[in-house]
Amino acid sequence: MIKELTCICCPMGCALKAEVDTQGNVISVTGNTCIRGENYAKSELTAPVRTVTTTMISKSGTPIPVKTKDPIPKEKIFEVVKAIKSISPGLPVRMGDVMIADVCSTGVDIVAARTIK
Ligand code: SF4
Repeated sequence: MIKELTCICCPMGCALKAEVDTQGNVISVTGNTCIRGENYAKSELTAPVRTVTTTMISKSGTPIPVKTKDPIPKEKIFEVVKAIKSISPGLPVRMGDVMIADVCSTGVDIVAARTIK
């Protein structure tokens, strides 16, 4: 079976075609301009992940931009966003501060994306 997808690793957006066997294993990838496209197709078709960016609201009501330090499994996004929205940290925060460690047992931290005084 051939699956078509667009690489989202850079603005070129290469159109990828991945050959997948009946067990869901990726046999080959074409259409990629660099190795990142092949890796993206394999990841997307077997264990898709995403970096989540959103905001937390501080105790004083100031929005704090935050993000996952590394990509998380796509199926965990809703749960992770819910966890982020459930806390209201105090200020100040510095860019890179860990706001939630090991969010939802993903092994990934939520970190501040900007310094807010
Ligand atoms: S395959 Fe490479 S060049 Fe093409 S969109 Fe992906 S990262 Fe960019």
